[in-house]
Amino acid sequence: MSTESVRIVWVYPDLLSTYGDRGNMLILAWRARMRGMPVETVEVRSDERLPDQGDIYLLGGGEDGPQALAAQRMTLDRGLHRALESGAALFAVCAGYQLVGSSFFAKGEMCAGLDLLDLSSDRGPTRAVGELAGTPAPDLGLPPITGFENHGGRTHLGAGVRPLARVTTGVGNDGASEGVWQGKIVGTYMHGPALARNPAIGDLLLSWATGSTMEPLDDAWPTRLRNERLAAVR
Ligand code: GLN
Repeated sequence: MSTESVRIVWVYPDLLSTYGDRGNMLILAWRARMRGMPVETVEVRSDERLPDQGDIYLLGGGEDGPQALAAQRMTLDRGLHRALESGAALFAVCAGYQLVGSSFFAKGEMCAGLDLLDLSSDRGPTRAVGELAGTPAPDLGLPPITGFENHGGRTHLGAGVRPLARVTTGVGNDGASEGVWQGKIVGTYMHGPALARNPAIGDLLLSWATGSTMEPLDDAWPTRLRNERLAAVR
């Protein structure tokens, strides 16, 4: 981790940014600054080298073509691999989540993923579109999760990783489990953006990155949003 500021790296906004995923970077930066932590945000386009000195990396959603291209470029670049080996945290959404596995389905064929976690994705029978909610893994100490999902892929977790949550509404990985959690990596199908709807996940990432406990903030607005969305699917 950098000593001076929390360095947040938004990976390939030109390829991976759907349904307001950029908001995840804004929410993280805001929640850090509200606690007096200096923050540096870096947006790295797909024709640039990925820095390996970031503290938190963000991957967003994407359509199949851009997703396949992102996989090729990140595999050649290896900056994200090096950063995670050095202890950085990663929050990966939808296409970005599928990318962290060994393979995913895009443009009519199986494509190689980044092979960062023990999971793989294929194509489901129908597209999963709508509200997604779930009960998080107890060890994470998170409240219920809420998001919006839109994906054709289904994700299968290997023995070496744990789901982020158990699905209560929607599809997530396969209709039963949603997302993944392993070390300092969280993957999810939730857009929304996810950290606006689930600020506790943002604080978890910040605590992993800084090694400090996050003091509570005045979360009246996100709480209102969460209550409204969770009530809509109850
Ligand atoms: N292309 C992937 C799928 O359809 C991811 C979609 C997304 O990121 N919204 O499964």
